[in-house]
Amino acid sequence: MNIHESEKIAGTLEYLGYTETKDSKEADIIVFNTCCIRDNAEKHALGNIGAVKHLKKSKPDLIVAVVGCMTQQDMAGVQLKEKFPFIDIILGTNNLDKLGECVLDIVNNRHKSILIDPNENPAIVEHQPVYRTSGTNAWLNIMYGCNNFCTYCIVPYVRGRERSRKMSDIMDEFKSLLDQGYQEITLLGQNVNSYGSNLDNGDNFARLLENIAKLDDYTKHRVRFMSSHPKDINMDIIDIIADSKSICNNIHLPIQSGSDKILQLMNRHYTRDHYLQIIDDIKKKIPDCGITTDIMVGFPYEEEEDFQDTLDIVRRVGFSSAFTFVYSIRRGTKAAVMPQVPAEVSKDRIQRLIKEQNAVTKAISKTYEGGVFEVLVEDINPKKEGFVCGRTDTGRLVNFQGNADLIGKFVDVKIEKTQSASLFGSIKE
Ligand code: SF4
Repeated sequence: MNIHESEKIAGTLEYLGYTETKDSKEADIIVFNTCCIRDNAEKHALGNIGAVKHLKKSKPDLIVAVVGCMTQQDMAGVQLKEKFPFIDIILGTNNLDKLGECVLDIVNNRHKSILIDPNENPAIVEHQPVYRTSGTNAWLNIMYGCNNFCTYCIVPYVRGRERSRKMSDIMDEFKSLLDQGYQEITLLGQNVNSYGSNLDNGDNFARLLENIAKLDDYTKHRVRFMSSHPKDINMDIIDIIADSKSICNNIHLPIQSGSDKILQLMNRHYTRDHYLQIIDDIKKKIPDCGITTDIMVGFPYEEEEDFQDTLDIVRRVGFSSAFTFVYSIRRGTKAAVMPQVPAEVSKDRIQRLIKEQNAVTKAISKTYEGGVFEVLVEDINPKKEGFVCGRTDTGRLVNFQGNADLIGKFVDVKIEKTQSASLFGSIKE
């Protein structure tokens, strides 16, 4: 989501005539697109903003803007301005489309701007310029905000309630991305499965996927989506994925914890049995589906027994990979005032979880050995000269010999060896 918002920021600046530089000393404008989903990200952003103070001193015309969800927290805009008075523009997540206006105001010697929009249901602004940076993949927002209020998460407070784009606007953009030659499109939303919940015309995620699948043969392409919420995914969605050529057999389904007690404290609205049932349904319909997840340890009240339930889920499901985290306190959320798990306990659990998941990932990787898989080549391999990398339909990263001419092409690769999460092979002529 943040990467795509950065693409919109860069698109606005490009529209105003700015060009990209990798050297901050050369920049006429620096925009920090912040994230407050975890404490670390916030500290990182503050450190980076502080570091441009000397640039501003030596180049007073430099415009410094801070945008993104960190600024949308209660009083954060004012506090930022107090801490870093050299900032020229502060915008929230709901009014990023105002960036161009604010820049022009400053260039025309008018005023500095702090514009945080506390509106929980801001209007969706269509047709913003986008400067795409993700190679073969194009991000496509289908909705904004979230209604779920998981007790550890700050997103609904800083990004507002769910707002879905009109199906026709999404389909127009989707088709235009195919016309521009993108080989992969990733549909974005905090919870894509509840797409349409605020529309009054019955549109929903299954119907959107159905329309997207009608374009299976329009060009050779792949479709991915993130993130799904286990309480909202259903058989209609799974059936469409199973039947479509372009929608990848790859579902990211964050479980967060394998303990019913913790899931309830997290306000996740599903049980471990319900989650396992969905996994069963997916495996029956899409046997080779790559299932990935997010797992958190050290959530308040988590005991060893709860953690064992999480390890059990990891073994039973067979996630092809997992994003694993230690719970991080977010001010203003319900979990922030719950009794916290000692840091050393969380540290021990995350290490054990990673070890367990690594063993599962390695075992799944082994099943690829000897097989031939279609790979979309995404980039040259930065670590190995003469090699490129790409992904299978199931989302597995594959490395093999090749050059930049292959980027954007679909090739069949025979997997010869595997190393934990990485697969290595060679092009099958
Ligand atoms: S579904 Fe839960 S974790 Fe995901 S963005 Fe919404 S509140 Fe946060």
